[in-house]
Amino acid sequence: MQEGLERVVIIGSGPAGWAAAIYAARANLHPLVFEGAVIEENRVKGTLPLGQLALTTEVENYPGFPEGRLDEYLNAAIDKDRRKYMPPHSGPGVSGPELMELMRQQAVNFGTRVTTDDVIEVNFRQHPFELKLLGGQKIQSLAVIVATGARANYLGLESEERFKNRGVSACAVCDGALPRFRKKPLVVVGGGDTAMEEAGYLSKFASTVYLVHRRDQFRASKIMADRTLANKNVSVKWNSRVDEVLGNDKDGVTGVRLRSTTDEKKTEELDAAGYFAAIGHTPNTDFLGGQLELTEKSYIKWTTAARTYTSVEGVFAAGDVADDYYRQAITAAGSGCMAALDAERWLASKGFE
Ligand code: NAP
Repeated sequence: MQEGLERVVIIGSGPAGWAAAIYAARANLHPLVFEGAVIEENRVKGTLPLGQLALTTEVENYPGFPEGRLDEYLNAAIDKDRRKYMPPHSGPGVSGPELMELMRQQAVNFGTRVTTDDVIEVNFRQHPFELKLLGGQKIQSLAVIVATGARANYLGLESEERFKNRGVSACAVCDGALPRFRKKPLVVVGGGDTAMEEAGYLSKFASTVYLVHRRDQFRASKIMADRTLANKNVSVKWNSRVDEVLGNDKDGVTGVRLRSTTDEKKTEELDAAGYFAAIGHTPNTDFLGGQLELTEKSYIKWTTAARTYTSVEGVFAAGDVADDYYRQAITAAGSGCMAALDAERWLASKGFE
């Protein structure tokens, strides 16, 4: 192998990235993971290292973590240097950040190298492929696995932009415990599982959570929808959309103006100290510069059924960046494993050691 040339680079550090790294490392491919940069822009966008699961609370549907005392295991499994920055385990099962730390540690234990930086540009028109980092450094690799996931959407209102970080958020777990939100009315927009999760989490701090949904029926799974409807601290505003986030420079968000989706003339103003968007996701594919074929929603297209192949031979995609349908931690991890196996077989078929 030429010096400075990587066999497999994995871009992204959610379940897909770490599963790919575990498999690639165990196949002696010495993978290098770019886990993302710890910068303010990534914090605001929701694209910090460890992905979307690091922004959630309990993960109840990832197999292998029934209720039980996990603290001793976490202390034993995760490097002390990282464990000391993690909040104490609060149970009952595993939390999103804990699960991601466990996956990262497992990948590192098998020899994965991790760089805390963003890949900002790729050149897939040449081989070996070239990747440019935030700091300007360039890396060459024989194979690339893209596992950059997706990030939360906003409605696109000018007023949302104006009050970002001053009451507007797309992550209750990151921001919900801030003093400005405590014992105040808060607004969550959306009708999917994310909105249910955000509303449930915020209901522990807020005086009331208004859950604003544009239809008269949730998209969320039944169990999460039922839990939300039974929560006395959540008040659902059906058939409504947020027309404007209200506020001022001194206080940030002070409320929202709702407009009925069944009668455009009908509006209502709600006092609120915070507004949380929970209306779906956008895949992190901008940095690809159009060099991989994408779907109409900008997700990477898998070009062969049941394979993680993309439109460029030697580039594989895994997890939410290529999946707008299942979008689960376990499916992301599964496709990360597939991508590593696909990359390993492709490298062997081309005669690369
Ligand atoms: P989602 O299922 O796509 O739901 C998005 C919601 O936002 C929908 O209710 C949609 O309304 C609404 N919406 C979209 N654009 C809107 C707009 N411009 N204005 C107003 N409302 C808008 O997204 P998600 O809730 O983020 O969930 C994504 C995936 O992650 C799902 O597969 C979900 O099961 C999974 N997830 C699972 C868990 C869990 O199991 N613990 C937690 C979170 C997420 P309509 O319904 O009218 O389209």
